[in-house]
Amino acid sequence: MSKHQHKKEFGQNFLNNPRIIQQIVAHIAPKPDQHLVEIGPGEAALTAPLLDKVRKLDIIEIDNDLIGPLTKRFAQHPAFFLHHADALSFNYASLLDPNETQIRVVGNLPYNISSPLLFHLLDSAAQIQDMHFMLQKEVVERITAAPGSKTYGRLSVMLQYSCLTEFLFEVGPENFTPPPKVDSAIVRLTPYKTRPFVANNEKDFQDLVRQAFSQKRKTLRNNLKGWLDETQITACGIDPGIRAERLTVEDFVNLTNRYTAEKL
Ligand code: SAM
Repeated sequence: MSKHQHKKEFGQNFLNNPRIIQQIVAHIAPKPDQHLVEIGPGEAALTAPLLDKVRKLDIIEIDNDLIGPLTKRFAQHPAFFLHHADALSFNYASLLDPNETQIRVVGNLPYNISSPLLFHLLDSAAQIQDMHFMLQKEVVERITAAPGSKTYGRLSVMLQYSCLTEFLFEVGPENFTPPPKVDSAIVRLTPYKTRPFVANNEKDFQDLVRQAFSQKRKTLRNNLKGWLDETQITACGIDPGIRAERLTVEDFVNLTNRYTAEKL
């Protein structure tokens, strides 16, 4: 398998450090009765140690050149199920076995598609117990950022609305072949069974959050023009003169619910 030509378009930076691999698996803490899904197995750096620890491991890989070697190596393993497919359009809920309610998702993700992939996975959040991903460190910082911090934005709000987000640990470029140009980090996302704050209309929530952050330097008053006026923003206990980066998830939910109730 070592002759594989790494493909940039598929974000192929393969883990090469057994200590880091072990650390990731330890944080995932797979159990023998569990059903995991791995996105982007590559040359099986994570696949191999996970396979022996779980009941079932579904693997989603897009690169045709990796399918043969993966099949040859693991086809006999009773837990191994390979899907030659695009993770961006994959139907994750379809992997649930009868009587199963949730799967766990893991992966050292291709960084060039990480945001759309995370948003796609959120659509199946009810069927996912938790997710452990290697991502560009800057993206993990954005996902886990607190309101008011430099990296807090739409990605933070959308993920924190649905999931508990945890920055686990950093991984330097030297732990990959070839080394990526950026630092990496592992994040844990745990979808809420019961969300702490609930928007009455999810689509309105998505649209309002996008709109509030549409022009980074503008205040809420300006970005939400035509959506909510100053009186309505103030009635939510929010100063219309501040920027979206200062609002908590609860603030966004309150603004959305007012918008939904009064938009007619
Ligand atoms: N898990 C391996 C490791 O840690 O060494 C490989 C990780 S590499 C960063 C990303 C993997 O995702 C590659 O195997 C790549 O071919 C695969 N990949 C890229 N885009 C994909 C997509 N849209 N759907 C499924 N797999 C994809």
